[in-house]
Amino acid sequence: MDTRIGFGWDSHAFKPGIPLRLGGVTIEHTEGLAGHSDGDVLLHAVTDALLGAVAAGDIGCFFPPGDPRWKDADSGIFLKLAITEVETAGYRIGNVDTTLVLAAPKIAPVADRIRTHLADLLGLNVDQVSVKAKTPEGLGLDHVAQCHAIAMVHRAPENEELKSMSAVIESQKQLEDVVEDLLSSVHGVPKKRVVAPIFDTEDIT
Ligand SMILES: [Zn+2]
Repeated sequence: MDTRIGFGWDSHAFKPGIPLRLGGVTIEHTEGLAGHSDGDVLLHAVTDALLGAVAAGDIGCFFPPGDPRWKDADSGIFLKLAITEVETAGYRIGNVDTTLVLAAPKIAPVADRIRTHLADLLGLNVDQVSVKAKTPEGLGLDHVAQCHAIAMVHRAPENEELKSMSAVIESQKQLEDVVEDLLSSVHGVPKKRVVAPIFDTEDIT
């Protein structure tokens, strides 16, 4: 498969007196998100989307919530692990799209900051990353932040080249042809002409 897709979702309850972290950015607000780690709902959803894209399990498989090592951990660590899993599977990230669902604070004024930081963490250009937000109208979930994330991954180009090379080089003879082509293109060494067999028609009986 050359292209795969992954989906992630997460939710955390608001809690007073702790910093609000979204996409690795600390946002000015009266409450933060409760969690064993830093409660970064956006990074958790993106982590699960990336792991899902390469069918590598979910965030809980790698970082069990009760593990003391991840107490108050920067969720950027979880994201890095997911990026490594994507790369190990031979893929690279094409784009990531997210939708936060929360009543407050307003995300529009900080969306660009979050987007830029998330792109940095993912090693992507800003135009490959999207951060959107909605309020939870009618859901009665004003003290909860949710995030939906989707990630597209593509087979890494190195592997594509190797695949096409291995398809071409099916025999030693073809390998010689490839080497000759390379020599003639790089060093101007003329290709050996394939000499057509000479038949002596008189010998054909
Ligand atoms: Zn979470």
